[in-house]
Amino acid sequence: MKLLVTFSRKGGHEPVIARTVKETGVLINVERAHIDSHAGEVLIDVPEESAEQVCRSMREAGANVKVLEDAVIRDQNECIDCGACVSVCPQDVFAFDEDWHLQLHGERCVLCGKCVVACPHNALSILE
Ligand code: SF4
Ligand code: SF4
Repeated sequence: MKLLVTFSRKGGHEPVIARTVKETGVLINVERAHIDSHAGEVLIDVPEESAEQVCRSMREAGANVKVLEDAVIRDQNECIDCGACVSVCPQDVFAFDEDWHLQLHGERCVLCGKCVVACPHNALSILE
């Protein structure tokens, strides 16, 4: 399960990820991270059965945690099944079914935004 973790670094540099791994024993897969001197935003992947424990530990450390279940959203009224998103997505989120209708596996999304830019019909958006 993917979790988007955001935290402030003002007033201290609490190592949120390391603290949670140590406290819970859960191995955390970091898929994307942007951390500067003020704040951090980290996309992590954890086993579904450990997600609640990880969320609790990170929130206790002062982080905000958002569970990403529908990270990428498609407007079905705008989508024309052109396939542009299929080729640009690095995570294989999009695929065609046997009738050439677009299917989404949103749980794989790492919020890179490439599909949003590539879609010629502005049919896609991702969580902010
Ligand atoms: S790029 Fe946009 S219009 Fe084309 S298949 Fe993907 S979501 Fe649909
Ligand atoms: S945001 Fe990136 S990873 Fe997510 S569906 Fe779009 S292209 Fe794929």
